[in-house]
Amino acid sequence: MQTNQIALFDVTDFEDEIVEKPDLDSYDYVLVMMSGGKDGLACLLNLIEEGVPLSKIEMWHHSVDGKGNTNPLFDWPITESYCEKLAEAIGIPIYFSWKSGGIELEMLRENALTQPTYFETPDGTFKAGGLTGKKATRRKFPQLSANLSTRWCSSYLKIDPASKSLTGQTRFAHKRTLFVTGERAEESPARARYKTFEPHRTDRRHGRSKRHVDHYRPVHAWKEFEIWEIIQRHRINVHPAYKLGWGRLSCMTCIFGSAAQWASVKAIDPDRFERIANYEDEFGVTIHRTETVRDRAAKALPYESLDQSQIEAALSLEYKEPIFVDDWTLPAGAFGESNGPT
Ligand code: SF4
Repeated sequence: MQTNQIALFDVTDFEDEIVEKPDLDSYDYVLVMMSGGKDGLACLLNLIEEGVPLSKIEMWHHSVDGKGNTNPLFDWPITESYCEKLAEAIGIPIYFSWKSGGIELEMLRENALTQPTYFETPDGTFKAGGLTGKKATRRKFPQLSANLSTRWCSSYLKIDPASKSLTGQTRFAHKRTLFVTGERAEESPARARYKTFEPHRTDRRHGRSKRHVDHYRPVHAWKEFEIWEIIQRHRINVHPAYKLGWGRLSCMTCIFGSAAQWASVKAIDPDRFERIANYEDEFGVTIHRTETVRDRAAKALPYESLDQSQIEAALSLEYKEPIFVDDWTLPAGAFGESNGPT
């Protein structure tokens, strides 16, 4: 029997926390980081409800496997298209950033330099960094940790591309920019300690560029039911992964996957599962500290909600469903497992 436990951190201790809120009217740019998941979506909808004009909002998506990768190792094939359709339906621009070769090439580094990053802007696509610094060897998966140097997927494939995109565009100089992400306290003790509002790592408000960048986490104190409520209020059709039973995005093969999640990956995309399992064999280092993904998948049943039409939707490269739906229903993954970065 599959268990769908709620593995959420108790945030009762943080309910009295004084949440600092930025003056939303004071910003020239509002950049919403969007994995395609519910929390980034809730941030976007919250900002719209708070009256931020759509003309100031941009959606930014970091393609973990590299933009346009038709055979991704980590992310859902549908995610880029879903995000594009979401941005289009809401009426805001979307810009992608990614490391050349994506997570797979970074993972396979062997006495090699890291690859450059590409980022899209209103004026075209630009390249930054990479093929400099020290040669290094990885040949192992990112490790299960809140420490971003061992869980390097978040730092190399998301945080760093976002920073390069911000520092690489002169349009942010002498302007005020709000950088928005959807981490929530409920997700882990480490995330509970994140500040709701603080200067972003690329902020240079006192420097020569006068680049003012604040980092805002508008849903940091929200409970999961509040996330689903705002999505329901706007009748947004959620990413197909939630309908299959996944409780969190972004990656389909997130390193934090539970036994049931690995069993579900194996059931819906056995080829992808084999690629991951074979890399574990080749590296001699597993994702989980003590078990292979084969061991993990054998220990549980796949999610009960693996509907064939949603499997096809999640594994395709083009999102064909409407973004706004009249008959909105809570997806199977809601209030289920919470497997994702801590
Ligand atoms: S979703 Fe999981 S695997 Fe993907 S970048 Fe985040 S922590 Fe890494």
